[in-house]
Amino acid sequence: MKRILAAFSILLFASLAFFYFFLPERAALNIEQAKNSASAANDAESTKRNHYDIKLEYDGLNRIKAEMDLLYINNTGKSMDELFFHLYPNIFRDRNHLPFFKQDLRLVFPEGFSTGGIDILQASQDGGPIRWAVQNNDEVLKLSLNKPVQPGKSSRIRLTFTLTVPKANYRFGYRVFGKDHVTLSLGYWYPILAVYGRDGWKLDRHPAMGDPAFSDVSDYTVRFTVPQDFTVAASGVLQGKSTKDGKSIYTYSMEKIRDFAAALSNNYETAEEYVDGIKIISYFHPEDKKGGFMALDVAKHALYIYNRSFGKYPYPELHIAETNFYAGGMEFPTFIMMNTAKYREPYLSNTSFERSMAHEVAHQWWYGLVGNDSINEPWLDEGLTEFSTLYYFEKRYGEAGRESYFERQVNSSMSLIKKSGRSMLDSVSSFKNNREYFAVVYVKGALFYEELKNTIGEEKLLDFLRSYLSTYMYKNVSLDEFIKLLKDKNYPGIDDNFLKKWA
Ligand SMILES: [Zn+2]
Repeated sequence: MKRILAAFSILLFASLAFFYFFLPERAALNIEQAKNSASAANDAESTKRNHYDIKLEYDGLNRIKAEMDLLYINNTGKSMDELFFHLYPNIFRDRNHLPFFKQDLRLVFPEGFSTGGIDILQASQDGGPIRWAVQNNDEVLKLSLNKPVQPGKSSRIRLTFTLTVPKANYRFGYRVFGKDHVTLSLGYWYPILAVYGRDGWKLDRHPAMGDPAFSDVSDYTVRFTVPQDFTVAASGVLQGKSTKDGKSIYTYSMEKIRDFAAALSNNYETAEEYVDGIKIISYFHPEDKKGGFMALDVAKHALYIYNRSFGKYPYPELHIAETNFYAGGMEFPTFIMMNTAKYREPYLSNTSFERSMAHEVAHQWWYGLVGNDSINEPWLDEGLTEFSTLYYFEKRYGEAGRESYFERQVNSSMSLIKKSGRSMLDSVSSFKNNREYFAVVYVKGALFYEELKNTIGEEKLLDFLRSYLSTYMYKNVSLDEFIKLLKDKNYPGIDDNFLKKWA
């Protein structure tokens, strides 16, 4: 017994030592404090959330048939006789629809233009067919309801549709490589209900860069039927996998997420790790193992640091998939797409891969938990996410990490920030190219928080971020609401003059 106890003590000591020495930590980081401030939203609210139930079948290359049941709950306070959905895949319908800048076309289509899109086949409400129309350059679906949905009431909407995925290095795109290997990204792929705001439906077009994301938190169940040799990486948690007649069926589900994305490949290997009880799964091509493990390592450290700084990540899992997205990384709720190029030298460094991964993990808070209109007010999520990235480097590597971040990101952006006539609070469409957008919205955004930290102190800044999270968790925030929350704290030195300097 003694021996068992002794062995147990050694084990316990070894595991404590592991967590103490191998995971970066600072005395100021307190996970209990973080947990309390980010208490989960009231479960009674589940009856107020929309539920998407999607069943899809994939052909193994680029075609998908799908059926989507949406339990729509009218939270607008008004009677609704029309509903509007984004049809983002239709930016690929033909060359004239493409939103991209000319200089990005070659990066999106290295093998030349490839068509894609979404075709709506049928629409019904509570079992009866309804009228529908595709409008706004084919990017919006309008449903005319037979029975208006009264405030607080619900209705069942069913849509059947097909997808053609373009051969593109994009969030919605696929690539063929090696010997019959396919990796397909499904981002912004299904008809997603538009946000109904104070001024009505928000129907902004997909921008040339940045993200079109603006949606309400909902519950999701998605069932994928794929050829047996394919692996499905997706948002949420895998509820079950079965195989029948040469096909595999994967069912994923998750509550309280604002979007659902996936990546499908017949060339995925996986590795996993746990941190703070959260399971992280990395999906990567076997030839890119090094990058696959680096993804896991950075995500683990980033979750550890952000959990203690902002409030605990409330979902049980986080998935990271190697995909083809020319711009680098892309955040989705509980799911990250990372461009395959980053998994290889010379990008396997803290200047590139690590920065992108720490950034996308931070988006799980800023965009995922606290949502915002990322077309018209992109600074709200990108500025704070980039500051969180800098904070990750500082907490993980100390002063050296902070300095090297400044050398790499800040110094190289300063001249662009000064030269650009744009405000960091401008909309995505105000910027000329990715470099200007990154410098002004991301880097200047991070510098705003740096100055805020220097003015009110680190502890107060973290208090503010926790308060921001708990106030807007699972909701959408506007710039005005953000500024009001900050001003209401009455921090010394944070007044209109301070804010004006950054506007
Ligand atoms: Zn970002």
